[in-house]
Amino acid sequence: MTTDSFSSKPLHPETLAVRAGTLRSSFNEHSEAIFLTSSFVYANSAEAAEKFAHAETGFIYSRFTNPTVSMFQDRLAALEEAEACVATSSGMSAIFAIVAAHLKAGDHIVCSRAVFGSTIQQFSNIFSRFNIETSYVDLVDLQAFENAMRPNTRMVFIESPSNPLTEIADIAGISRIAKKHDALFVVDNCFCTPVLQKPLKLGADVVTHSATKFIDGQGRVLGGAILGSKEFISKVFTLNRSAGFTLSAFNAWVLLKGLETLSLRVEKQSQNALDLAKWLEQQPAVERVLHPGLASHPQHTLAMQQQKMGGAVISFIVKGGRQNAWTVIDNTKICSITANLGDTRTTITHPATTTHGRMPPADREKAGLVEGLVRLSVGLEHVDDLINDLALGLSLIG
Ligand SMILES: *Cc1c(COP(=O)(O)O)cnc(C)c1O
Repeated sequence: MTTDSFSSKPLHPETLAVRAGTLRSSFNEHSEAIFLTSSFVYANSAEAAEKFAHAETGFIYSRFTNPTVSMFQDRLAALEEAEACVATSSGMSAIFAIVAAHLKAGDHIVCSRAVFGSTIQQFSNIFSRFNIETSYVDLVDLQAFENAMRPNTRMVFIESPSNPLTEIADIAGISRIAKKHDALFVVDNCFCTPVLQKPLKLGADVVTHSATKFIDGQGRVLGGAILGSKEFISKVFTLNRSAGFTLSAFNAWVLLKGLETLSLRVEKQSQNALDLAKWLEQQPAVERVLHPGLASHPQHTLAMQQQKMGGAVISFIVKGGRQNAWTVIDNTKICSITANLGDTRTTITHPATTTHGRMPPADREKAGLVEGLVRLSVGLEHVDDLINDLALGLSLIG
């Protein structure tokens, strides 16, 4: 295999997104190949022995080394400005692997309360059985993070912006607390992607991704990734060699192609979201709109320091509760009613009865996930068409 060599000047993310990590076989293919092979062959026993001894540098067996997967890992690492990356079969297996690689029985996790539902399931219902305890704190309260730290806290885990309320964490501030207590600071960067936010530059030790969302961006495959220092990623690599939470070569290829258009999609989707959010703010049937790009957002200033743009996700509260929220959702013809996000097609969800339906109602209300809340993940449709799509339902209740 050969790699492209670039100029010595630092390259822009747009260039890295289409060039970084490319490997070519002896056929000199221009587009990246899909290496559908479970194992690799050697000229002789000595070469086989050498490859097995240095598993991280050669290709042996696709559970832990595959050229298409390598290309995806190296390209995403270039975009996140990380030393190294291990790709995984899903966003959830990435989070599972981080915990399994770093923690042991008796350790403690501090996690922001508003993280992805399955992340809470893992921490509270799976790792708790292995005697790893988790404390949940308010994402925007630095003092709460400090107060939750214990001598055995070995990991701090957050998501920013949060889902669905788009609250913004002070990543640098939380990083200082984690460092003081010698805990690994992990940021789930799924909502922003490296196009909008680079947590490692703000003080995170590890970034985790659900590549299923914006990185694929077209609703096709599942995938995940873990990024960080060579030292940490080497621990994850060793774990994966035995645990096998491997990303398939085919999915890696789809995601590699997704990276090529990531900045175009994420920036346009964020702009569409901001335009739509501004329009929603003017609607009499809407009580409140949450988008980090709006001046009215409680952490707007912090968001604009940390992120290039506000992102594609908007939440808004319709006056009159569940019935009216459902009326808005059910009268859309363009938006897809689905809980997925990050797609080029706009998706619309009622969190209180879907993604957060299993939460006890009192906890849900307290967390701000009220019955009138509607979440949008804005896609690439023309924003005027999206406005018209939402206007019908809003006019019926206005
Ligand atoms: C979807 C999601 C995950 C889980 O990813 P999968 O690829 O579905 O396993 C984790 N974190 C966030 C923020 C997500 O939105």
